[in-house]
Amino acid sequence: MSNAVPPDQTTNAPPAILPTTMPATMAAMASKLRDAGLRPTRQRVAIACLLLDGRHRHITAENLTAEINATGLHVAGGTVYNTLNQFTDAGLLRRVTVHNEYSLFDTNTEHHHHFYEAAHDRLIDIPADQVLLSRLPQAPADHDITGVDVVIHIHKK
Ligand SMILES: [Zn+2]
Repeated sequence: MSNAVPPDQTTNAPPAILPTTMPATMAAMASKLRDAGLRPTRQRVAIACLLLDGRHRHITAENLTAEINATGLHVAGGTVYNTLNQFTDAGLLRRVTVHNEYSLFDTNTEHHHHFYEAAHDRLIDIPADQVLLSRLPQAPADHDITGVDVVIHIHKK
């Protein structure tokens, strides 16, 4: 039996087609946002077109801002960050906290864990069933544990 982690399916490559050229996708994304309880503003729809096309990606607000600006749209970094947080609160994205005050947003909202390689600021998915936790501490008084996300820090030998 092998414990090998399957190859990383995540890509950081921008989509081949820009959202402004895909009205059908824009309509689909607008309804996806509505279903998630978010008003489909132009900026939210543009960001959804870039991020929520079904591919698994890990991205920072900064990188996404650069990607959006490359499409000719201009959205301020703070707005992108707020939108990513709204998507996360609505369950459309997952936040992966790498260390204090630094997180990436994950378009794969299924339960899974990550390797993090600081040298390339890269997250690599680990299927949930490949991490076994045999013991967890008691949650603080009046608290329940709602999830455990493992980030294993790696660097090239
Ligand atoms: Zn992931």
